[in-house]
Amino acid sequence: MNYDLIVIGSGPGGYVGAIRASQLGLKVAVVEKESLGGVCLNWGCIPTKALLKSAQVFEYIHHAADYGITVNDAKADFGAVVTRSRGVADGMSKGVQFLMKKNKIDVIMGTGKVKPGKKVEVTAADGTKSTYEAAHIILATGARSRELPNLKQDGKKVFGYREAMNLPKQPASLVVVGSGAIGVEFAYFYNAMGTKVTIVEFMPNIVPVEDEEVSKQLLKSFKKSGIEIMTESTVESVDTSGALCKVSIKNKKGELVTVEAEAVLSAVGITPNIENIGLEDVGIITDKGRVVVNDYYQTNMPGVYAIGDIVKVRHWPMLRLRKLLFVLKKSQDTILSHLITTTFPDVPIVPLRLPL
Ligand SMILES: Cc1cc2nc3c(=O)[nH]c(=O)nc-3n(C[C@H](O)[C@H](O)[C@H](O)COP(=O)(O)OP(=O)(O)OC[C@H]3O[C@@H](n4cnc5c(N)ncnc54)[C@H](O)[C@@H]3O)c2cc1C
Repeated sequence: MNYDLIVIGSGPGGYVGAIRASQLGLKVAVVEKESLGGVCLNWGCIPTKALLKSAQVFEYIHHAADYGITVNDAKADFGAVVTRSRGVADGMSKGVQFLMKKNKIDVIMGTGKVKPGKKVEVTAADGTKSTYEAAHIILATGARSRELPNLKQDGKKVFGYREAMNLPKQPASLVVVGSGAIGVEFAYFYNAMGTKVTIVEFMPNIVPVEDEEVSKQLLKSFKKSGIEIMTESTVESVDTSGALCKVSIKNKKGELVTVEAEAVLSAVGITPNIENIGLEDVGIITDKGRVVVNDYYQTNMPGVYAIGDIVKVRHWPMLRLRKLLFVLKKSQDTILSHLITTTFPDVPIVPLRLPL
């Protein structure tokens, strides 16, 4: 089967690009190996915000008296909070399914791989292989939780963001390693739900990529809410053999201290999914584990583009999309974008301008 465009991966980079390309008249297919909507809708932005909303409601109730309202005996049902979040994610994924249909985009379930001659090979869950051709291909395979050698994830006691948002039982205590957006959002959520949270951050400030002023405000607020914070500290090892994890941490004084916790969340970043998608077969250039693209998200192979977490540049997703659409169909859509790290207080980031 031939298409004008095949998109591999249906996260926000992939599915939004596919919809717009279809609206602009291209015949489009999306290849997805797991759930439509990608990490963002299923395991990232959306389900975390649902969890955080529950945490915020719980916090409001705790402070209801400040607003002149008396609430007796408020309890959070952790299982129900997680179930709600999974339901919200599921609804969003079904929404993408609807949008694919509405925009006449073919959804091909399976693992996609680029092949020479602008071909995409798709391996279905039962191992059946099919090959499709396209004038353009967009790689949008996203990323996964990054693993450090001394912080191996077993998925039960030491885990990444996927497990952290779907735990069968609320941990009484949690060490969060890394205080980027993912780390602080989970730290806020679990602390608000009543878990004893310790953040371990390698850098001098939490949310290290944000302005120092922002970091200081968040630090103040987190400390006030009872979160322990260790900056300029590194996790050396985790012993999971006992009932509690023993986390050995080198603190800012260079001393080795042990923090015990029921679980450890590794939130030390992401690793782009560039393996086994055919990059080597067709000679697409990567650098430090990410696909290299130009200002218009073109790889070095004509007709093959890449977008989202697999690419090397760090731009707002909607800005990336706008540039890519410009290349595909010279569309000059104006899309305004902002990012928010949802904690209390929120950390909003708004670009000063959106250059094209
Ligand atoms: C906990 C968490 C919270 C986040 N919160 C926010 C937020 O609030 N705001 C924000 O802007 N960003 C947030 N992010 C980041 C955001 O989720 C990512 O930047 C975004 O999902 C990247 O989109 P993408 O399209 O590149 O890939 P993804 O969303 O990762 O989607 C990639 C898709 O490709 C599929 N795939 C991979 N390989 C193949 C293959 N070979 N064949 C077929 N399919 C394949 C995957 O199954 C997946 O569905 C968060 C991330 C996490 C983990």
